[in-house]
Order: sequence, then C-alpha cells, then structure tokens
Amino acid sequence: MPPRSPRLRRSNAAAFPSSPPILNLSHDTLALVCDLLLPVDVLNLSRSCKSIHNFLHQASSKFVWKAARANVQGLPDCPKWLSEPQFASLCFEDFCFRCLAMDTYSRSPLWPFGIRYCLPCRTATFTTKPLKDFPAGGGGALSRKVLSFYVRDVQEFRAALVAKVGADLAATAALVLALLQEKASDTKDRVEFARECKAWHVQWKAQLAAAARAVKVQRQQDILRKLEDAGYANEVRELGPHYEGLSQEVRAVTDQARPLTEREWNVIRPTLTAFMDGRRELGVRVAFVRQIRSRL
Ligand SMILES: [Zn+2]
Repeated sequence: MPPRSPRLRRSNAAAFPSSPPILNLSHDTLALVCDLLLPVDVLNLSRSCKSIHNFLHQASSKFVWKAARANVQGLPDCPKWLSEPQFASLCFEDFCFRCLAMDTYSRSPLWPFGIRYCLPCRTATFTTKPLKDFPAGGGGALSRKVLSFYVRDVQEFRAALVAKVGADLAATAALVLALLQEKASDTKDRVEFARECKAWHVQWKAQLAAAARAVKVQRQQDILRKLEDAGYANEVRELGPHYEGLSQEVRAVTDQARPLTEREWNVIRPTLTAFMDGRRELGVRVAFVRQIRSRL
C-alpha cells in the first residue's frame, strides 16, 4: 500500500478533530441543548466517545444532567449516594447493573439500594440472614414478605462497626451508637427516596404506554391513508369501525409502536395491497350473492 500523502493526512485530521465539536460549545449553549434532552439521552451521549464521557462525568457537568432531569415531570432529585449517570441509568434503563442481562426483575429497580439486578444476581447478592450464617441464605430479595439485605451493604456496615470497636468499652459503645444512628438516618432517607421514585416510575411507565399507544394509532392511520390513496378507499371503509377486518398478519405490521417511514412503507406495501385485493374480491362475491338472493 502506498504511503498516504501529508495532504490527505491533514484533511483527515480536519474531518476527525481530537475534541468533539460539542465540547467547544459554551456551557450556556450546552445547557440549552440539554434543555431538550431526557437524562437517558445525556447518558447515551456520554457513551458516544471517551471525551464526552469524561466531560459529562465531571462534577462541574452536573448542570447538564440537572437540565435534562427538569424535562421529566415528577422525577425526584438525584440522591447524594448516587452519581447523575447512575441515577439516570437506574431510572431509565432496563438491564442488570451486575451482568447486563435483562429480565422482569432487572426492569424493576431496587430503589433503596440504587441498583437494578436480574433474578440470578438478586439471589447471589441478597440474604435474609445478615447476622447468622452470613452470607449464606438468599432468595429473600425475591419475596415482598421477607426482609432481605444487600450483602455489600451489610459487609460495609460490619467493616465500619469493627473499625469503631476499641479497647475503651465506654467510648466504643458511644461510637457504635452514633454509627447505628447514622445508618438508621441513611436508611430512612433511602426508604423515602424509594417511595418517591416508585410513585414517579408508575406515572412514567403510564406516560410511556400512552405515548406508545398514540404512535401505534398514528401508524395505523398513516397506513390506511396510504391504502386509500392507492385506490382501496371502499375496502378500508369496509374494515369496520375498529378495523376488525384486518387479518392477524396485517395487524402484525400495523400494530407497532413506531412511526411509519417511506422506506418501510415500500417494504410492507406488497403484503398490504395483496390483502386489500383479497378483500376487494370478497366484496364483489358478497355483492353478487346479495344480488342473487334479492331476486329469489
Ligand atoms: Zn444480573
């Protein structure tokens, strides 16, 4: 392969600057851009390249996340025990923080702990017996009726307790008591945070479902309008008030929560026009039978 000319190298360097152009924007402009984003968008932006990742993970970039959080109605503030990216991931993503798997459990955040874990990870990291036979046990995190403990949390608390135990028993008792009070206050904050997050999450999921329904209805209308434009207006009218006449196969194409694009329309058009041709033929036969019967 011939060596690349210095001129070509220079033009490539201009095409791929070392610093992403978005970082050249002033903080005010960047805040204006982020005013239009959701926290999950900022999270995805932070994963787009190393420079942006580093920038958005700096403490001074908190304003970016704050601007994005303001776009989500009812979302509680980021708690002091989570970073902004962790909080965004906890609220808006679905995968397990430990192994990246996705299941029903990973979609349901464990709010007080600031984590989302799949079923195997919950079983591996939670216990119902933090003081006896620790860390054996497990399974408690799977039941709402059983009090369960996050193993890492218990280990950290135990280590802190052990560190406080000294030779002077009177002094030790006071220190341990202070630690217990601190832990109780932290737990209270986390439970309150979890309560707020759960309420927001229910509302957020309902909003997402409503938005998905609206997109689905719009898509169906767009498809039917295109069929009417293609000369199938009578057949579309005959589908019924709730389009009961659509077959299973056609519904699989229309009942999707994503907008219809021209490219996709070109792909699905043969299936839909074949279906409408079938309906047209059926309509002609029904009209013929009715005509015959009317003469009898
Ligand atoms: Zn997992």
